Amino acid sequence: MEDKIPVTQPFLPPREEYESFLADIWDRNWLTNNGPLVQELEDKLSNYLGVNELSLVSNGTIALQIAMKALNLEGEIITTPFSYVATTSSIVWENHTPVFVDIHPDTFNLDPHKIEEAITPKTSAIIATHVYGNPCDIESIQAVADRHDLKVIYDAAHCFGTKYKGQSIFNYGDISTCSFHATKLFHTVEGGAVVTDDPDLRQKINLMRNFGHDGLNNFTGVGINGKNSELHAAMGLVNLRYIDSVLAQRKKLSGIYDRHLEDADISKPTIQSHSEYNFSYYPVLFNSEKQLTEVQEKLTEANIQTRRYFYPLLSKLDYINGRATPVANRISKRILCLPFYHKLSEETITRICKIIKSV
Ligand SMILES: *Cc1c(COP(=O)(O)O)cnc(C)c1O
Repeated sequence: MEDKIPVTQPFLPPREEYESFLADIWDRNWLTNNGPLVQELEDKLSNYLGVNELSLVSNGTIALQIAMKALNLEGEIITTPFSYVATTSSIVWENHTPVFVDIHPDTFNLDPHKIEEAITPKTSAIIATHVYGNPCDIESIQAVADRHDLKVIYDAAHCFGTKYKGQSIFNYGDISTCSFHATKLFHTVEGGAVVTDDPDLRQKINLMRNFGHDGLNNFTGVGINGKNSELHAAMGLVNLRYIDSVLAQRKKLSGIYDRHLEDADISKPTIQSHSEYNFSYYPVLFNSEKQLTEVQEKLTEANIQTRRYFYPLLSKLDYINGRATPVANRISKRILCLPFYHKLSEETITRICKIIKSV
């Protein structure tokens, strides 16, 4: 049996580089609570991405929860059923009601033309995911939000490095959140960020992520523990040195897949125009669920892991009373993410594509 090919694999920098950060952490004996490395990573990320107010938090889920709290959301929140479970579970955890709106059949992102019919007097916001790092129809979503006085949060967990109209995708909406989980394109092992343009909002976010501590003996508002540690920040600082090569390698691997699958009976999401895509996943859409299952079985036999991402739809979670979203329903049954990570070899891609084309 050949070596197992995972669907994803975390990027690991040279160990010595991480270890040199550890020596300083030991010398300082300062492990968490907004330490110097957390602050340095926030500065470097803000510069690298070109965003104004970025707060590092402990993961991408708490980032979403803090975003909702910071914007005082209530009642119903329009959202997509085609995303990772955290997009919906965080809404429910915050005691709001997710209202699902269907996705666009080409981009797999929330369809802005279907938002309005789902708005009620209780709607307070739209939470949309830039699926696979592919930008949403930002202008149309913003137009609906402006007409109905709704907040917009983007779950931009897949979007590190994606640009739209020449600037970071994180600069759109009232707040964008990101995940720096180990499987994401840029990671701090566990981690995430809340990004906004509004300095006052960021101050509120920073209070919220630290129990509401406003000085040692004073508390402003209800907070939670959303802090990240010096050890996580160190991983981020080392990984950031490699981010350009990570992004370039993914673009290259994606191109290799594309060439091999040119004549295959599959399609791919349409990337939003005016954007620089970050190639964070390699999803393929089959013509039928049957075809997908056959391919997945054959790949599994060859010890190659794939993932039905996103399946099932979030509207099918057992704690959800979801509206019908036929487009998302059709797509989630036919979408498969192929192995895609920094060290994936061209030879393995060739092998995967041969198997796909044999079905
Ligand atoms: C990974 C992910 C999250 C959750 O991030 P964590 O850091 O794992 O909490 C949320 N939304 C989407 C779309 C994700 O892919």
